[in-house]
Amino acid sequence: MQQRDINTVRVFHRCGGCGKKQEFINTGKFRVNANGNSVDVWLIYRCKKCKHSWNLTIYERVKPKRIPPELYELFLDNDIETACKYGNDVDFLKKNRAELK
Ligand SMILES: [Zn+2]
Repeated sequence: MQQRDINTVRVFHRCGGCGKKQEFINTGKFRVNANGNSVDVWLIYRCKKCKHSWNLTIYERVKPKRIPPELYELFLDNDIETACKYGNDVDFLKKNRAELK
């Protein structure tokens, strides 16, 4: 798949790799972990400096039925529009303790 620029809100977070606050970049990739009756979905960000990854929680231990099937497919496809939507969703970012600038 072709790499495209994702224009989303700039976020800052304490990096576990660098050990200090860094800018994190939206990778446009989702991580889906389906485990029986429980699903987790994250949007993955990376430290601009050291590439350390940071997973922002979209769904945490929810029943698979709670996620609309169309949306679930978009997560699995690493849909860029969906990644942008979450990357610009201030409530979502704040819930994940991202610092916005
Ligand atoms: Zn880092």
